Amino acid sequence: MTTTLVRQTKSTCSYCGVGCGVIIESKGDQITGVRGDPDHPANFGRLCTKGSTLHLTAAAPVSLQARLLQPQRRAERGAAPQTVGWDTALDEAADRFADIVQRHGPDAVGFYISGQLLTEDYYVFNKLAKGLIGTNNVDTNSRLCMSSAVAGYKQTLGADAPPNCYDDVEHAEVIFIVGSNTAYAHPILFRRIEDARRANPKLKLIVADPRRTETADVADLYLPLLPGTDVALFHGMLHLLMWDGHIDPAYIAAHTTGFDALKSTVRDYTPKEAARICGIDEAALVQAAQWFGSSKSTLSLYCQGLNQSSSGTAKNAALVNLHLATGQIGKPGAGPFSLTGQPNAMGGREVGGLANLLSAHRDMANPEHRAEVARLWGVADVPATPGKTAIEMFDAAARGEIKALWISCTNPAQSLPDQPTVRRALQRAEFVVVQEAFSTTATCAYADLLLPATTWGEKDGTVTNSERRISRVRPAVPPPVQARHDWQAVVGFARRLESRLPGRLNGQATLFPYATPEEIWNEHRESTRGRDLDITGMSYAMLERAPQQWPLPQGATAGKARLYEDGRFPTPDGRARFANVAYTPVAEPREARYPFSLTTGRLRDHWHGMSRTGTLGRLFGHVPEPAVEMNAQDMVRLGLKDGDLVYVTSRRAALLLPAQASQQVASAQAFIAMHWGEEYLSGCTSTGERVYGVNALTTPAFCPTSKQPELKHAAVKILKA
Ligand code: SF4
Repeated sequence: MTTTLVRQTKSTCSYCGVGCGVIIESKGDQITGVRGDPDHPANFGRLCTKGSTLHLTAAAPVSLQARLLQPQRRAERGAAPQTVGWDTALDEAADRFADIVQRHGPDAVGFYISGQLLTEDYYVFNKLAKGLIGTNNVDTNSRLCMSSAVAGYKQTLGADAPPNCYDDVEHAEVIFIVGSNTAYAHPILFRRIEDARRANPKLKLIVADPRRTETADVADLYLPLLPGTDVALFHGMLHLLMWDGHIDPAYIAAHTTGFDALKSTVRDYTPKEAARICGIDEAALVQAAQWFGSSKSTLSLYCQGLNQSSSGTAKNAALVNLHLATGQIGKPGAGPFSLTGQPNAMGGREVGGLANLLSAHRDMANPEHRAEVARLWGVADVPATPGKTAIEMFDAAARGEIKALWISCTNPAQSLPDQPTVRRALQRAEFVVVQEAFSTTATCAYADLLLPATTWGEKDGTVTNSERRISRVRPAVPPPVQARHDWQAVVGFARRLESRLPGRLNGQATLFPYATPEEIWNEHRESTRGRDLDITGMSYAMLERAPQQWPLPQGATAGKARLYEDGRFPTPDGRARFANVAYTPVAEPREARYPFSLTTGRLRDHWHGMSRTGTLGRLFGHVPEPAVEMNAQDMVRLGLKDGDLVYVTSRRAALLLPAQASQQVASAQAFIAMHWGEEYLSGCTSTGERVYGVNALTTPAFCPTSKQPELKHAAVKILKA
């Protein structure tokens, strides 16, 4: 009798930016188990509900997972897709893209990709668009996730580099969590915060959030600020820090610029005025500032509550201001630490996979940076015209300006705001390619060409987590049937396109000579030489031994746990810059016709649009169905009881769903989780168009600097159905 041995493969969780290490157990071609990797410094063996059930989502029969197994093409929109071979599929994609580029120019095509992709996938997409085709129209769902954090860091510290590491949780005397339900969105980091509080009962936890979330519920001080008022909160705190002598004049003088201009702005944010804007107790504001300023080490953790906002960059920058003014940065336990939503939004930023970025944190707007990248790729130039960001790209497609869209590993028909416009864009585009692991996402219905992608447990490459740590993602089993790695599909397409559009090859046989993900990563590594994220001292072989933090330049033996310890910043004069930003209210303040502030967020056990977690019954045990959570008094006022169906209506659409009383939600506010899509939550526009999920309601208004949309707030009315 033969027995099949259980194989153990070290890899990384595919869900959030904590980036936990996992050990995948497999037998033959089947994933049989998953456990936390005790050696991985992000989690030391722990996993949350989502991570610990990864094997169950992967081990179900591929039919139950609704895997996309073969390339498919539709003869026409609405027709059933027909199976085709990879050569036919990629030939057609190359023909259609080349034809559109030749007729309308390179900016008539766009690529919308994902923070779920691996760094190697991201790299080839970016090179395909900016290098081969000559358009900067490549953006990603990281635009919906971290672009305000990127802009906030660059505006103040000079580079898109989170200065902290997870160890800082153990060194902090005060942890200030703002705009983040860390207990649900980054559970393993939250376990670490709980451990740190147990080890040091004097550690103070301040949480600012419009909802009294599970994170807020255990805070020493909870600030229930009104949606979108974070800048006023931070300016009010800085006002108090100055007044109480908690700022660090020596640090400000030696390491920063711009404090005087900011000082005159925050003078107007008296405690009374800031508390009024934020809708919080003045005493609570005073307490928060006092704890923040008097501690030896204050660590701020923040996420989408700051980022997904029409003033997202200002919010991020105003929080960094607090750390610069108090010198709470560049030392253990102190600093502004953005928590990355997705597993590899960081890796995507590192390769420049956004419409305004270039490889290795270079800027599109900088001619020298464009020339450097053109040299690295061996092309004549990288175009100077700014690319279209997520919202702009779909608006342009809805207007008929972008005629071909390639969408990879993301579901814009559910996740972008203003769903009616997104669906018009997908319908109007002449050619839509969707590269996906799962066949059931809402966007698949609009694809002319569906390309089956590999997924967690099958993929091979790297990701970077919130603390700048690069980890290997390794395959435990072969992909099913004809699914291909994302980078392989891109390389196959790019080589075909090169023969149809040879103009930008600059005499090279191909820009895509890669046979393995390591070859792609090595090219990316070279692009980082001399940059703030220099990883020229790193290699796949080193990552085989252990994950590493960047920077790790040639000659170094370990990465940097925390940045700016010497008080020097990556700005032209080496000084950090205070951002003199103004408070601006939410894009859609509530008013008489739309009297509720709708906020959105995560559930504990689901991820994004549920294409993976939604295949597992047990993950519905915590929250079995969608509901709009409301304050109990508001429900009484509207004559509602738990379970009553209501219409939640914004200026764009209405959804029908049950109401549910929640002690977490303040009066005149409401909350709907972001995950529920087509199968669970539907409604219509005023013209009768069907729409699905909470982003049917949300506004496409975005931050003018980061272009990140305000997914966290919309004005709505709620009426009994
Ligand atoms: Fe995965 Fe995030 Fe949970 Fe870690 S905390 S197991 S990375 S979902």
